Amino acid sequence: MSTPSAAARPVKDLEPRRYRHGDAVLTTYRGWCKGCDLCIRSCPSGILALADDDRIEVTDISRCIFCGICVVRCPDFVFELDRN
Ligand code: SF4
Ligand code: SF4
Repeated sequence: MSTPSAAARPVKDLEPRRYRHGDAVLTTYRGWCKGCDLCIRSCPSGILALADDDRIEVTDISRCIFCGICVVRCPDFVFELDRN
C-alpha cells in the first residue's frame, strides 16, 4: 500500500536526460522540478540552469565535479548520480 506522499508524487519520467562524463552519469527527471533554484545556487560549478521547457538543464557536464550536492539539495528528487 502506498503512502499519501508517494501517491502524490508524479510517475517517474520515461525520458530522463542523462549527462555522462568519464565513468559518472548525472540523470535529471522531467516534470519533478518546481523551479526553487536551490540546485542552481548550490552547484559549485555553476552549470545548472532552468531550461525553456521548465526542466533543469546541465549546461556543461565536463565541468561537473560529481559532488552530489544537487542530488541532496533538490527537494523533488530530480537528480540521480551514478558511477559505472
Ligand atoms: S554533481 Fe555537483 S558539480 Fe555536478 S551538477 Fe550537481 S552540484 Fe553541480
Ligand atoms: S532543486 Fe530541484 S526542484 Fe529546485 S530548481 Fe533544482 S531541480 Fe528544480
